[in-house]
Amino acid sequence: MKLVFASNNAHKLAEVRHILSQIEVVSLRDIGFLQEIDETGQTLEENSRLKAITVWQWLISNHLDSEYNGVFADDTGLEIQALGGAPGVYSARWAGEPSNDANNRAKALQLLSGISHRDAQFRTVITLVGKGQEQQVAGIIKGQIAIEESGDMGFGYDSLFIPEGHSCTFATLSAEQKNAISHRARALHALRAIIN
Ligand code: IMP
Repeated sequence: MKLVFASNNAHKLAEVRHILSQIEVVSLRDIGFLQEIDETGQTLEENSRLKAITVWQWLISNHLDSEYNGVFADDTGLEIQALGGAPGVYSARWAGEPSNDANNRAKALQLLSGISHRDAQFRTVITLVGKGQEQQVAGIIKGQIAIEESGDMGFGYDSLFIPEGHSCTFATLSAEQKNAISHRARALHALRAIIN
């Protein structure tokens, strides 16, 4: 089984390869896809589908589709309850362009300053597109936004997010610990179930 993961995010790629260890997962760089895909959708579902479809169609037009079993794409958002689900689909560029993780985290802490209700969740939507098939799966982890950043592992909002059942952020957990419970891991387990 050989799948294209429609991303060049090294952190996501490492998590995906760790969790889908039985599957050969290749990145956009590996296949020579060098374009930026504009995430113009209004939902994680739309953006995830847009990325997977764009890359699958590119494989077809370059006569490379027969080399792969399909393309899958991940779109992930942090949904903070007290902010009405923001930043959600806008998580990457929440604090402005170009996307800046440190500024995004600072914005979250600033907007939640003085707010004790800090429930949040990460949600990942994965779309798999292949010959004659298109399927979507999702994974969620609930938790809380910390009062301040801690930890230097992971990426993005990890140093702010305390997953349920833990007292410290994702960024203080090892890759194995994060991958055992994360939104992305849950979505990838659902993906594995539909491709096996
Ligand atoms: P996207 O799915 O690449 O569009 O990511 C949206 C935003 O969420 C980016 O700012 C990422 O850094 C962040 N993000 C995605 N996945 C994770 C994760 O597993 N932990 C923390 N932040 C993440």
